[in-house]
Amino acid sequence: MTIYCSNCGNPNVEGDVFCRNCGKPLNPATAYSAGAPQTIVLQEPAPHTSGLSIAALVLGLLGIWPLAIIFGGIGISHTKPGRNVSGRGMAIAGLVLGIVVGLLYIGLFTWAFIAGFTHSSFPFTGGSSV
Ligand SMILES: [Zn+2]
Repeated sequence: MTIYCSNCGNPNVEGDVFCRNCGKPLNPATAYSAGAPQTIVLQEPAPHTSGLSIAALVLGLLGIWPLAIIFGGIGISHTKPGRNVSGRGMAIAGLVLGIVVGLLYIGLFTWAFIAGFTHSSFPFTGGSSV
């Protein structure tokens, strides 16, 4: 079966998508489906990562826990679902890190405080050495 080009009248073999003479699509419907697929990707604009979340995670890793908790809390509120801002995981990680490190600090401080009472030679409790 011969397919004649609607543009130039050139006879083409069945199965040809484009005219062998002028290159026009012989059948636009099949041409577009068989030829280069037109990938129509409907997607939202690429979400940007919350800088606060990154800051929270970095601060948490650095052990600057009060700021990590603050930035993590703000970062979580900034990365609510539907706001097209990624980095919620990092914000949570920073917040958790900040809390864990903070508890460690408080624990160490408490331990040192108690140790100061139990050991009279503890340097921070020498009330007479000022
Ligand atoms: Zn043609």
